[in-house]
Formats: sequence, C-alpha cells, structure tokens
Amino acid sequence: PGILQIVARCDWRKVVETMVERAPKLLIAIDGPAGAGKSSVSRLLAEQLGYRYIDTGALYRAIGLLAIEANVSPEDVAGLARICETAKIALTRNRIHIGGRDISDEIRRPEISDAASKVSTHSEVRSALLGLQRRLGASGAAVIEGRDIGTVVFPNAEIKIFLDASIEERGHRRYVQLKETHGDNISLKKIIHDMAQRDKRDSERDTAPLRPAMDAVYMDSTKL
Ligand code: C5P
Repeated sequence: PGILQIVARCDWRKVVETMVERAPKLLIAIDGPAGAGKSSVSRLLAEQLGYRYIDTGALYRAIGLLAIEANVSPEDVAGLARICETAKIALTRNRIHIGGRDISDEIRRPEISDAASKVSTHSEVRSALLGLQRRLGASGAAVIEGRDIGTVVFPNAEIKIFLDASIEERGHRRYVQLKETHGDNISLKKIIHDMAQRDKRDSERDTAPLRPAMDAVYMDSTKL
C-alpha cells in the first residue's frame, strides 16, 4: 500500500519530462493486446513529446491486406514471404502506403485484423518486417507500439510499457469504435470472441509471442 500511495501521488508528466530532458531521444515501447489503448496513448504521448509515432501493427495489417488481394492463404508461408519481399511499404506518422497507394483506412477492416493476426504467426513474416521496424526506430525519439517491441524489436528501449485491460472492456471499446463506422450491424459478443481468438494466437505463437518484457511496466487500463 505504501508504494501504491507513492505511485498515485507521482507526477508522471514531470517524470517523463525530466527523462526526456536528460535523454531527448528515448525509445518508448508500448506493447499489449488489442483494445488496451496502445494507439490512443502512443499517439498522445508522441504528440506531447514531439516524438515520432510508429504503429507496427499497420505493417502486419498491410501484409494481411496484400495476401487477401493476391489470393494468398495465411498459411502459405512461401507466398507470404514473396509478398513481404516485394511490398514497398512506407509508414509515416498517420498514414501507411504500399507502392504509393494509401491503405490507411482499408487495413482497419475487421477481416484485415484477422488476416494480420494469422500472417503474423509465421517467423518468416516476422523476420521480414523486423529490419524495417528497426530502421524506423533507429534514431530514437519515438513511441513505437506493437506486441513484441520490448521483447524482440527493441529489447534495449529505455521505457517499456505493457498496457492491458480486461477482455470485456477491450471488446466494448472496439464495439463503440466499430458502431461509429458500421452502424448497428455489429455484435459485441462476436467482437469479444474474435478478439479472444487473436489474443490466443498472439500469445501462443512460437516466434515473438505477446508477453510483457521482464523490465516492462505493467499497466491495466480497464478502469481508465
Ligand atoms: O496492433 P494491431 O491490432 O493493429 O495489430 C494487428 C495484428 O498484427 C495483431 O493482432 C498481431 O497479431 C500482429 N502484430 C504483431 N506484432 C506487432 C504488431 C502487430 O504480431 N508488433
């Protein structure tokens, strides 16, 4: 309880500002399951610190989209490897392009979430995207979000957060988001079911499974 009181009283903005003053090019890794709040927190943090925001999930989503368009099954490792080799992905703060085509909105569709989760289980796909992720964050001064940033992509990141929340709350957040774009034609039950499946795939895969790094700060955003 003593520690919790200190944490509750701590002025976190000051803590981060002080860290940034002392080391202005920090790399901040934010990992966690879908719907925990990673994107919202990462964007805000990057904006406040004047850092770059790097969304690595968008890269896996791009491969998922390309696979669907090329009729390549998410189990066809050779086909996926070819897509990774040839895809000309350009990731900026808010947009993602493949070969000049803006796919930022398309990759948010639920079927692309599912495809991204499936293609990302293969070590061939993960290693093909590793170099790009490392190049994007190489100069520091970035908030980078994903599933394996603190464990695999940037194990030396100065700040690592593992952001979590209950599956019900994460499902509800996604439901509210999708309701805005899809109207009433969506089911909370199905969203929670699909999310649980993605969580399971992400956590149980052999390569770079979703788990907090040993030195990550674990935060539960369920009630935040
Ligand atoms: O974060 P987002 O939900 O957009 O990620 C889409 C999918 O990409 C995730 O379900 C996960 O399977 C995969 N992913 C990953 N490693 C990352 C980022 C995303 O495996 N660093």
